[in-house]
Formats: sequence, C-alpha cells, structure tokens
Amino acid sequence: MKILIQKGWAYCLISAALLSCTTVDSVKPETTQVKNVIMIIGDGMGPQQVGLLLSYARQAPHSVIANRITALDRMMEQGRLGISMTYTADTLVTDSAASATQLATGKFAGAEMLGLDKDGNFQENIIEKARRMGKSTGLVSDTRITHATPAAFAAHQTHRSHENSIPEDLLATGADVMFSGGLSYWLPEQAGDKNSELHQQLVQMTGNGFEIKSSRNDTKNLLNIAQQQGYTLAFNKAQLQQATGKTLGLFADSGMENGIVETQNRGDALHVQPTLKEMSEQALEILGRNKQGFFLMIESGQIDWAAHRNDTGLLLHEMLRFNDTLNAVLDWAENRQDTLIIVTADHETGGFGFSYSGADIPKPHSLPGAAFADGTLFQPNFNFGNPEVLDKIYAQQLSYHDIFSRFDKLPKDRQTPLKLTELVNRYTEFKITEAQAIKILATEANPLYRAGHVSLGEKIVPKMEVNGAFFVYQKENRENLLAQAVSASQQVVWATGTHTSTPVFVFVKGEEQTMRLFAKILHHTQLGRLAIEALQ
Ligand code: MG
Ligand code: ZN
Repeated sequence: MKILIQKGWAYCLISAALLSCTTVDSVKPETTQVKNVIMIIGDGMGPQQVGLLLSYARQAPHSVIANRITALDRMMEQGRLGISMTYTADTLVTDSAASATQLATGKFAGAEMLGLDKDGNFQENIIEKARRMGKSTGLVSDTRITHATPAAFAAHQTHRSHENSIPEDLLATGADVMFSGGLSYWLPEQAGDKNSELHQQLVQMTGNGFEIKSSRNDTKNLLNIAQQQGYTLAFNKAQLQQATGKTLGLFADSGMENGIVETQNRGDALHVQPTLKEMSEQALEILGRNKQGFFLMIESGQIDWAAHRNDTGLLLHEMLRFNDTLNAVLDWAENRQDTLIIVTADHETGGFGFSYSGADIPKPHSLPGAAFADGTLFQPNFNFGNPEVLDKIYAQQLSYHDIFSRFDKLPKDRQTPLKLTELVNRYTEFKITEAQAIKILATEANPLYRAGHVSLGEKIVPKMEVNGAFFVYQKENRENLLAQAVSASQQVVWATGTHTSTPVFVFVKGEEQTMRLFAKILHHTQLGRLAIEALQ
C-alpha cells in the first residue's frame, strides 16, 4: 500500500514537471533564428572511427590532444546527439554519392547517383535552396571538389564517375566558395603538355606547388569559365588567405595531402597546400559576411580512404585532421546563437575495431587489492589490448599507400619482399617479417611472386588472401593484406574493404529548439530535411 502511494505521488510530480516545462516553453520570450548551417561530414566516420579518436584522446599515454578533450567532447557540452541510418532507397548499404545526395536533398536516392532521387529525377539540393533564400553557400573538402560528397551537394549526374561533367554542374549551381583538390578536372587536355604555353602559365599561377595535368577528355578550360562567372582563383595557401569573395580554390591536381602528411606540416606557415582547417576558416570568413546567412558543407573526406585501405595509422591522423577542423568551426561559432553545426558521417567504412585476442596474453601478475592479498596471481584469459598501442599507431610516418608507392618506384629487381619488410619496418611501429611480406606480395602481377603459392627458400608459403567479395579495389589489396599482417600486434580488426550499414552519429550544436529535433533515431533523408528546414 505504502509503495503504491509513493508511486502515485512520484507520478504527480512528474506530471507537474512536464506541465511546468510545457508552460515555460509556450511563453519562451525569444526564439533565436538559425541563420547559418554548417554541416561537417566525416566520410566513413562511423561510431568506430569516432571511437578511435576518443580512445586515442583519453587513453594514449602521449595523446597530442590538448587536455584530452576532443572537438566532439566540446560540442557535446551543450550539444545534442542523434543517430542516423544511411541506407538508400533500395539497398542495405550506401555509397558516398547516394548518402550525400540524401543529406543534400532530403530525398531517397539510388546508390552512386548524384543529386537525383531513386528514379533518377532531378532534386533541388540545399545549396540551390539556400541561394534562392539569398544566403551564401560553400563547399570544402580535403578530397577533390568533383568527388562524390561535395558533388552531391551541387551536381546532378546519373553516376558519380562523371567527373568531366561535374565541374560544369558546380559552376551552374554557383556556390560562393569551393575549396578542395581536383584541378586536373578543370583543365583542358593540352594543359598536360609541358611545352604548351598554358602549362607554363598554370605552373606560374599555382606557384609550382603541385603537378599540372589534365583529367579531362576535351579541350574545355573551365577555369576561364569560372573567372567569367566572377570567381577568383586560388591554388595555394597564400592565395587562399587573401580570398575575400567568390572563390574557387583548387589546391591539388587530384586528392589533397593525406592526414599523416598534414600532421607533419601542421603549423608550417610556408607549406604550400592549405589544411582542411585553414580552408574551413577562410570559407567561414568569406561566407560570414552575408547578413542573410549561409550554408557550408565541410568534408573530412579521407577518413573513408584510410578505412578502405584498412590503414589504422592513417585513419587516426585523418580523425585528428577532422578534430582540428571541428575545433576551428566551434571557435568561430563560439557564443553565436544564429549558427547550427551538424556533424555526421555518410556511412561507416571498413568495419574497424579494436578487439581482444588470444595473442600475447599478459602473464599472470599480482594485484594490490584485498582479494589478491593471499598472493593469488591475476590470470587473464585473453589480451584485451594495451593503450600503449595507440601511441604506436600515431607514430606511423607514411601511409600504406605511400609505402607501396616507394616500393613501386624501386627498379623491378629490387622490389623484393625483403625490401618491403624494410620499408614497412622503417615507417611504422608494427614490424613484419620477410615471410609476411612474401604473403602480402603474393597477389601481385610482379612475376617474382607467383600467384597461388610463393616460395621462401625451400618452404612453400600459401598466399595470404582477402575475402574477395568485400575487398573490391584490387590495387588496394596489398594494403588490406598488410593490415591483416599487423592485425594482432595492432589489436585491430577490419571486416571489409568497403562500407557497412552501421548507423552513424549526428552531433548538433546551436539554438535549443532546433537542436532538439535532431536528438532521435533518424534516417539521412530526415536529417537532410531537418537541415533544410533549419535554414528556412
Ligand atoms: Mg567523400
Ligand atoms: Zn568509401
């Protein structure tokens, strides 16, 4: 009886609280309007990749993250968290084009299409809508501007691979700032000819910071068209930082530098290529001048590339680049009530995780607690992973891709398993043996390594295999195999070379009434619609 009364009483209290809460809401004196929406997409940044950043920040003995507080921790001090499903209209798993289309239009899309709904109808994207409202718009990515994610916010194409047509769509949509890599998709075929006047001109214009070539199969010079449309061009950090208005910034021939290279050059004022953070800061500086507000999409796009390759060290540096960029955005928006920041991913890549194993099980050891006072030793059954591995992951000096590029540049007769062993062991903390290198190279076209089986002296070593169905990028298989070779010592597993359907996080920070709408289990089409509605 007593319990029942207490229950009833508590219920009344809750009802009263709800009632008073509703009353407070209805007489809320002022609702600040959202003027600016900044959407930050970590491509491939599923909960697992966020987890790597958080593990590193909190547990690495020598974490480089100040006070071990990530930008996501900062965001969640006043932010809200939702989760979102990323599937397309008719598939379980999405690619970046469909996912970003769903975010940009709020409509279900088909895999690998840009700016179209599932049936192939043109759909207005958030940049086009924002422009109609008189707002400024921007796209920033550390991949290339014609790549799936930025393209989905401004182009309409039946396939993401139409990178010759995407620049023209980008110009037609006319975002005020576009900062990324991918210059080669804007240059006519003849630009690649080192003797041509155009080539010389471009070398001058770009400050000779990177290779000038063309990825086009026609003679269109889209830089000229961009200039006719009022864009100022920027090709390096100095030019970026002078930009004040409508600017097309193309800072690499194709993809921009990777996260490890960025870490190594962070803080170098003379470094030619701007960082994702620097591009984002300049975009905010320019777009923030519009009193009507703006929409800005920032992509930390190489998280996905690192994860496709199962390159854990590179992945960590990509997450640090994301963290740096988000910190800068939070600094810019500090004390602003008119700006909504949305951080999400288009999907998870790689099925990454730290995992406990039966390898290198720690030895039985004594513990100081009372339960062990009689001298009983604590005996673990498994190896749950030592946080010191996080510092070793951070210490990687070259991406797997760059290690293999160096390997490929050697004369053919020096491309031996021993040489690969030396390279891996020089640039990473996770050492491999020559026998492992033989297995990694067993799939190569190089006749030194016969497919099927390879010989190591007298012994026949079976080749190491990736699960072909899910490791679809053959050129990257050697990197996937290297990841498998160091898996136990890294304490890391990778499930796939492609994407997974794992729901992704949605971090939001901004005006309370708007922000709370995102704190749900969403689908990316809903998330896209909420972003569009927030702008209106
Ligand atoms: Mg992308
Ligand atoms: Zn991907």
